[in-house]
Amino acid sequence: MAAEAAIRLGVFLGVLAAMVLAERIWARGLAMPLGWRRWPANLALPLIGSVLLRLVAPAGAVGVAVWAEARGLGLLPALGAPFWLAVPLAVLVLDLSIYWQHRVFHHVPVLWRLHRMHHADPELDATTGLRFHPVEILLSLGIKATVVTALGAPPLAVLAFEVLLNATSLFNHADIRIPVGAERWLRRLVVTPDMHRTHHSEVQAETDGCFGFCLPWWDHLFGSYRATPAAGLDDAVIGVPGWRIARQQRLDRLLLQPFASTPPVDFPQRGP
Ligand SMILES: [Zn+2]
Repeated sequence: MAAEAAIRLGVFLGVLAAMVLAERIWARGLAMPLGWRRWPANLALPLIGSVLLRLVAPAGAVGVAVWAEARGLGLLPALGAPFWLAVPLAVLVLDLSIYWQHRVFHHVPVLWRLHRMHHADPELDATTGLRFHPVEILLSLGIKATVVTALGAPPLAVLAFEVLLNATSLFNHADIRIPVGAERWLRRLVVTPDMHRTHHSEVQAETDGCFGFCLPWWDHLFGSYRATPAAGLDDAVIGVPGWRIARQQRLDRLLLQPFASTPPVDFPQRGP
């Protein structure tokens, strides 16, 4: 388990550093008035989430998989699936379950309040990919643990999925411009920053689409694929109306945001 934590942390820090570097080299070049001022809160949130997870469920989803495996629980062992098949299948099903979890978090009002905090980031960069409410992180673990147990997912598959999800979340929120030809090819395999930018548009119909984090196929399969924002990638307004100003991006405000009522429509969109 110590090795599991080290692998996850190592890959996470490596990918975060790579994305921050890539953002310097291949930046979209759009104005980001808040920029790094969003970072303290965006980076503190995953720290709080991790501490909370360690307190509530120290072994995490991989621990649940080890526990289920020892008892022979789940569909894959019941079907006698060989290891080489069980691992990719489990990764696929876990990604599908995260797609539906994300979709449900957009559609159920009380869950949207938790997830809205992630969308309220008025600018997108790799740190947005870490900005999730600790309660959403806890709920997500509960859902993952249920799927892992029902499936009897091999611990290696769960570890691979956790690492993959974390890395792709950093990648698809990153402020990088991928050349059009390469991007068109890449979005067939993985959710790209352009696809995920559409999901972060303030236009409801665009936010309620492109729910995939890792694989783009579920959006095609379940009719939620949106190719690009109507306003264009560079002109799409990012964030959630009413939650965009600098002072709302403070850590304390973000933690309390799910419990705060939505600001009036004439609430300023810019300012301290
Ligand atoms: Zn979302």
